[in-house]
Amino acid sequence: MRNVLFVLSGPSGVGKGTLAKLLVKRNPNIQLSISCTTRKPRKNEIDGKDYFFISKESFNEKISQDGFLEYSNHFDNFYGTPKDFVFSKLNDNDVLLEIDVNGGLEVKKSFRDTVLIMILPPSLEEVRNRLIKRGTESIEKIDSRMSRIEYELSKQDQYDYAVINDDLIKTVERIEEILLKEKHSNKGE
Ligand code: 5GP
Repeated sequence: MRNVLFVLSGPSGVGKGTLAKLLVKRNPNIQLSISCTTRKPRKNEIDGKDYFFISKESFNEKISQDGFLEYSNHFDNFYGTPKDFVFSKLNDNDVLLEIDVNGGLEVKKSFRDTVLIMILPPSLEEVRNRLIKRGTESIEKIDSRMSRIEYELSKQDQYDYAVINDDLIKTVERIEEILLKEKHSNKGE
């Protein structure tokens, strides 16, 4: 059986984070990847656990050494998936990345055996209603979030699998089935 690098992506609010935590809890062989970031640690965040907190200079140096599987910029800070960490963990573990759709597609470009899994909401209508009910954002903001979600969903056919998150446990089980199937495949040999 091979160890698998797999990515969970999907629109915000679809429950990726919860799924990732549960997968790691149920499967001790799965290692959640740790990203590098140039942002300052928040209270309670630990270097080497939540992120590798590094300076902009070190981040740039790592870019020039081709040290990231993918990286991007959010709110003036850089975030990236470090190749050295991922590949060293992959020797003994399956490695899980929880990143956005563009990041997932980038990773697959540099490492073809990556398994891309998109998590889908049961329906777009439901996501919109949930955002409206929550009442924390204006309708304009909600509409702009919805177009981002539609953009992400439009990339679905470039993903290897799409799983609808209609029930937490069932969804985790479906992802575990995918993982098992991929672990038994001969890819990368
Ligand atoms: P935060 O600063 O709140 O921890 O994260 C901000 C954003 O950065 C989130 O949308 C998170 O998903 C994204 N992010 C965290 N790590 C990575 C990474 O390694 N690569 C990319 N592309 N985005 C990341």
